[in-house]
Amino acid sequence: MKSLSIRLIAATVAAGGLYVAMTQQAAQPLTVEKLTDDLSVIVGSGGNVAVLKTDEGTVLVDDKFDRNVPEILEKAKSVSDKPIRYVVNTHHHGDHSGGNTTLIKTTEIVAHDNVYANMTKGNQPGAPRITFSDKMSLRLGGKELRAHHFGRGHTNGDAVVLFPAQRVLHTGDLFVSGTPFMDYANGASGVEWTSTLDKTLELDFDRVIPGHGPIMTKAQLREWVHSFKKIKDKVSEMKRSGKSVEEVVKTLNVEEFGWKASGLWAKGLPGLYAELR
Ligand SMILES: [Zn+2]
Repeated sequence: MKSLSIRLIAATVAAGGLYVAMTQQAAQPLTVEKLTDDLSVIVGSGGNVAVLKTDEGTVLVDDKFDRNVPEILEKAKSVSDKPIRYVVNTHHHGDHSGGNTTLIKTTEIVAHDNVYANMTKGNQPGAPRITFSDKMSLRLGGKELRAHHFGRGHTNGDAVVLFPAQRVLHTGDLFVSGTPFMDYANGASGVEWTSTLDKTLELDFDRVIPGHGPIMTKAQLREWVHSFKKIKDKVSEMKRSGKSVEEVVKTLNVEEFGWKASGLWAKGLPGLYAELR
């Protein structure tokens, strides 16, 4: 059953180029976790959604699947009665930007240039009207957030979003609780991923909203980057010793490095193998 669902996911990824891994989970009710007086996160089903409350309206970072929008609106309402003015997408995957389909009718969506490119390429509805290349600041009601694109990683269009006053960072799927997915069909780079995160670690923050999973600390992010580097060293070493890509996929044990093996991770491994010297 487990391998069947992994195959289905792999088929979905291959067919549509859309990362909808989280659809394998039964729909979970959404809950709101308060990080500061003005910043909350909506967790459950799809990617984590940050909710920044201001006197002039609410800003979301990511918006899960389109089917989650009614519940996202209800949860945002429980935080603030002001309308949602902006949504920033961390990347184009449907479990982070699916809600754009509905929300673009009433809000402004902002994301990296390659989110627009990947969404139009994949015929995904709700592509952002406003895009940026390296950096974007958004100011509303005396509050501020800053999105940074530090390079390739999970895709070629990932942004991390810093809430400077709250000292919180939303990483999208550049950091997840668990094992990452390298979406080579959409410009991922396992090689560049860790340098993208090294630059991210230079930002000033204490807590992290990962793409999926519970709230983490900066130290946990640093630890995860360390594991990723060690795993890449291991794959390099296996390649240099003459192991084929099939052997690497079969025998690399990421659990030695504190990660859990997953079908999506394995799906990205041939791309990583090809990239590494
Ligand atoms: Zn993703």
